Amino acid sequence: MLVIANANILNEAGELQLADLWIENGQINKIVPAGSEPAGTAEVCDVQGKFVSAGFIDMHVHLREPGFEHKETIATGTRSAAKGGFTTIACMPNTRPVLGTPETIRSIYDKAETEGIVKVLPYASITVNELGRELTDFAALKEAGAIGFTDDGVGVQNAQVMKDAMSLAKELDMPVIAHCEDDSLVKGRAVTEGEFARKHGLKGIPNESEAIHVGRDILLAEATGVHYHVCHVSTEQSIRLIRQAKQLGIRVTAEVCPHHLLLSDEDIPGMDSNWKMNPPLRSPRDVAACIEGLEDGTIDILVTDHAPHSEEEKAKGMELAPFGIVGLETAFPLLYTRFVATGKWTLSFLIRRMTTDPANVFGLAAGRLEPGAPADITVIDLEAEQEVNPEEFLSKGRNTPFTGWKLKGWPVMTLVDGRIVWSKS
Ligand SMILES: [Zn+2]
Repeated sequence: MLVIANANILNEAGELQLADLWIENGQINKIVPAGSEPAGTAEVCDVQGKFVSAGFIDMHVHLREPGFEHKETIATGTRSAAKGGFTTIACMPNTRPVLGTPETIRSIYDKAETEGIVKVLPYASITVNELGRELTDFAALKEAGAIGFTDDGVGVQNAQVMKDAMSLAKELDMPVIAHCEDDSLVKGRAVTEGEFARKHGLKGIPNESEAIHVGRDILLAEATGVHYHVCHVSTEQSIRLIRQAKQLGIRVTAEVCPHHLLLSDEDIPGMDSNWKMNPPLRSPRDVAACIEGLEDGTIDILVTDHAPHSEEEKAKGMELAPFGIVGLETAFPLLYTRFVATGKWTLSFLIRRMTTDPANVFGLAAGRLEPGAPADITVIDLEAEQEVNPEEFLSKGRNTPFTGWKLKGWPVMTLVDGRIVWSKS
């Protein structure tokens, strides 16, 4: 028996309230007013009024293993997650080999069990080797534990292939998760069409490259009835289409990343590849649309799209370096500092979008602080201010545009199934 004592938790009204969380057999056993029941022989962990939340859920993470262990591994990626307050992460299948067979899916679960410290849920690829041609064996992949199908990293270019995927996924009651990008509009480009591209004489990635797929896929989702989830939404046009689809009752959900809520292309300081990700940073108008979309529920959840790369790879410069930034260890402090500490959002809104909402969208038994729930818990110091220092990341990736940002809301302890898996030393 373990008691997390003097925890500041959100009650149903969204107010903070001091409580003791009793944990037994990996589950939350009861939540009582702080100090109301003697601990007796239970082990006590006094968090002294720090904020305590259900562990965060990140439905979009690149763990890079197998095949790209120089960028990240299940061991380092899950430690990075724990340090960021995440207790459940879903990993993307664009590894080598691609997660497109039952064996590869099972190997992720096995590795996560032995080498990981948070819960890892693998997606399987839609098509064999993410080449966009032949569907993988959805039934066998579901049986092996895949939680959904996605070719994240690339868009599925062929509409018939996507429609077949959705029909099959619908039959199996599985979601299709789409990286929306029309190849013909983006080839060889590094940043969004707009201010920064103009200034530097670069050909940009237009907003339509994303929204064309969103629109096409919404129509296919309507035709097939599948649960369709849009990855890392970044444009006003996509949000408009998703909002309309939801109004029509089409089964679509969507996610957005912190960087698309905090940065626009006008913030990019120069030809620095730590500001290069896919989708790219868009215009201030798109940023405003993303914020509004998350606030009004058009966008359902927050994800990081944690995408570590080695320093050598990122040193190739804006045009040649691979897309992606790390996100697990800065997501909550960024969002808390920018949106909650400034009074724009309530704390309970932000927490919901990182816990119960992703759990509801994907049907996970996680994301709730309540008796009977798994004791996946994150403890956060909302007051202490600290600078982002990539040298301190537990991820192998150091590729972030947020170096030096002064932020509040840093996690200090993370528990998974009632065990402390990480704590600030
Ligand atoms: Zn993607």
